[in-house]
Amino acid sequence: MPVTIALSKGRIFDETLPLLAAAGIAPLEDPETSRKLVIGTNRADVRLVIVRASDTPTYVEYGAADLGIAGKDVLTEHGGAGLYQPLDLGIAACRMMVAVPEGFDYAGAVRQGARLRVATKYMRAAREHFAAKGVHVDLIKLYGSMELAPLVGLADAIVDLVSSGNTLRANRLVAVEEIARISSRLIVNQAALKMKRAALQPLIDAFAAAVAAHA
Ligand code: ATP
Ligand code: MG
Repeated sequence: MPVTIALSKGRIFDETLPLLAAAGIAPLEDPETSRKLVIGTNRADVRLVIVRASDTPTYVEYGAADLGIAGKDVLTEHGGAGLYQPLDLGIAACRMMVAVPEGFDYAGAVRQGARLRVATKYMRAAREHFAAKGVHVDLIKLYGSMELAPLVGLADAIVDLVSSGNTLRANRLVAVEEIARISSRLIVNQAALKMKRAALQPLIDAFAAAVAAHA
């Protein structure tokens, strides 16, 4: 039984490569240029599957992958059922923020108990955040480019991930509140950890050592 690791293309794949290398694993193909979704590695007993970032927890939950790497944002939306989360890898770091158009008085609107329209991909995180603050919101689900919503009157505010802040600035938005610090976590199928402990534990330990060495 090979070990299957679920990864998404882009920043998670790029930032996971050094961790894989530390565990002695090198992919045989680059998912950015290959169209293959199942990618072999230098180790016959380890393969990678390339999935959409928000699908990673689902593949691991159902055991289609033994391990995966997913952002805390994605894990919060998924809920984490059936997943063991042994390790914060510290990669793909950013912050989940509330942002509004320049000049919009967010604090004032909240103080007055206004009902805000908030566009986001992160419905669960947003719902929990505003409920905890007692802010009344109508959430509008989007699948991408949240920054556009306030510019065309779809929403008063957005909840989005921010790293450099360049996208917000380019669209004349300002971050007004931090909801959570985000980084990517190693996730493990709970049943696989029991059945395949001999294969999985050394990988988990190697990732942990690589993260500790980098910290
Ligand atoms: P998709 O692009 O398929 O709609 P996505 O935007 O969630 O999905 P990525 O852009 O690859 O996928 O992001 C993957 C993960 O990287 C996110 O779940 C998040 O944890 C992290 N991430 C997203 N945006 C940023 C950012 N601006 N800076 C740092 N990390 C980020
Ligand atoms: Mg993206």
